[in-house]
Amino acid sequence: MPDNAQPVSINPDGSLAVPDNPVVLFIEGDGTGPDIWRATQRVLDAGVAAAYNGARSIAWKEVLAGEKAFKETGEWLPQATLDAIQKYRVALKGPLTTPVGKGIRSVNVALRQALDLYACIRPVRHYPRVPSPVRDPDKVNMVVFRENTEDLYAGIEYAAGTPEAQKLAEFLGSLGAKIQPGSALGIKPMSASNTKRLVRAAIQYALDNGLASVTLMHKGNIMKFTEGAFAAWGYEAAREFFPGRTLTEKELWDAHGGKRPEGMVVIKDRIADMLFQQVLLRPGEFDVIATPNLNGDYISDALAAQVGGLGIAPGANVGDGAAVFEATHGTAPKYAGLDKVNPGSLILSGVMLLRHLGWREAADAVEKALSDTIASGVVTYDLARQMENATEVSCSGFGGAVATRLLG
Ligand code: NAP
Repeated sequence: MPDNAQPVSINPDGSLAVPDNPVVLFIEGDGTGPDIWRATQRVLDAGVAAAYNGARSIAWKEVLAGEKAFKETGEWLPQATLDAIQKYRVALKGPLTTPVGKGIRSVNVALRQALDLYACIRPVRHYPRVPSPVRDPDKVNMVVFRENTEDLYAGIEYAAGTPEAQKLAEFLGSLGAKIQPGSALGIKPMSASNTKRLVRAAIQYALDNGLASVTLMHKGNIMKFTEGAFAAWGYEAAREFFPGRTLTEKELWDAHGGKRPEGMVVIKDRIADMLFQQVLLRPGEFDVIATPNLNGDYISDALAAQVGGLGIAPGANVGDGAAVFEATHGTAPKYAGLDKVNPGSLILSGVMLLRHLGWREAADAVEKALSDTIASGVVTYDLARQMENATEVSCSGFGGAVATRLLG
């Protein structure tokens, strides 16, 4: 690490203080992780150099997680890694193998829980020439804020036939619930506090980026006290944290004739199954979607499919103290070490990281260079097999082509 490298810190008002040479942590990831990490680092460094001509640079520092950590330390997610992310606050992560029957349920989930990274943020947009199954993929331009800590994903579940499931069924029976004997049981906790901090982050994002609306996606017509409460708390968060900056759809029509006042964000809500239809039929009507954990998991991948799949979909898990940006696909183990897969997802996660640091010029430059490279037909195998007149390149070849565009 260069001598002048410094950690990112947090100002008293909660904003990030970013030095010109920030330390940014990386976890290269398992399987194809090292291939996509090398390509990504080259592209991001080129983007920063092109935008700031040496006045800024990233000091990359490796931390261990996943198989590499297990081989070197005997742990899948060492405490030293968690401590480093808490100290340096920003990290870029490749995909990690989910160990099967080896103590830790999922390294990714453990990381989110240990650092309270409560918002899973997934921007979804189309890049020209990327093959898509829909007619107007360019109309898809949305950002999903998925709650990361609660819901059926909290991991509170009991296998069928266990004494725990039996005991819980008896207790629920005493409250009047009818449960089929021998059932498996899962609990769906949702709180006002965790919902509100998620929705607050989603609205702040919409305001910062000049977006028109935040849609609360829920299944409250059926699950009234969990998903229904999510929507109600979401509206409350808008009123509490952003008075004068948000309005409901009813207020939009009653007070403004349907014309959104400049700088205001419209808060609306949609039932989950209906939203799946509407993002296909009228994608232009949605900007930011805020939703509980399970809905968010589904809608993120469905939207990614609309614009060409997970190979280039970026993501981030963000909390108040730290942010981990990550490729959204897995380790694709059959391609490990073959220098073959698409590094686009990790590169675009790096673009999100640059925006998080406030380095918009570098972020825009990298995103444009990646988009132009794909539009020129220079792509990895996954896109080449669906495109006409494409030039197929390796993982490093794609990274090199994007970096060359940046450095001219
Ligand atoms: P996967 O690794 O995402 O791979 C499934 C298929 O998706 C690949 O065979 C490949 O399709 C395509 N693919 C994935 N990444 C690609 C890329 N960068 N470029 C082009 N194509 C890509 O899913 P998996 O095989 O189910 O999971 C493997 C391991 O990853 C598991 O241990 C799983 O738990 C873990 N995982 C980790 C994360 C994470 O760290 N965030 C997320 C999901 C899964 P083709 O074969 O058609 O070419």
